Amino acid sequence: MYCPVCLEEVEEGRPVDWTMPEFLPVPTYRHSLDGSTLCIRIGMNGYEPTEPTFTRLELIRQRTEAMQTAEAQRLALVVEELDAGGSWAEVLTAAGVAGDGIATDELEEMVTDYRHQREE
Ligand SMILES: [Zn+2]
Repeated sequence: MYCPVCLEEVEEGRPVDWTMPEFLPVPTYRHSLDGSTLCIRIGMNGYEPTEPTFTRLELIRQRTEAMQTAEAQRLALVVEELDAGGSWAEVLTAAGVAGDGIATDELEEMVTDYRHQREE
């Protein structure tokens, strides 16, 4: 599981830095690294911690929808997913470029470049 904002890994548990009044629901997830509350963003009820994303594919999809250009991070996720045995078809769908020949070529090229740089 990952925090959809900072892309850090997430675990179950009460955040160690949660200081909101007790009548508010306590989040059930925290960043694995330091136990902090998942990153805050504006949701249906105002500012609230994000819900964790369960798979890399979901994360790739979310970042596409948010149109946040953390392209390098997103590309790293794409490569991670492929390295872990994920299928191109699923990655292309998650990235929102399935059926778009130019965007697909672009993504393939970016993945090739990324792997190349990693090997150097
Ligand atoms: Zn986060």
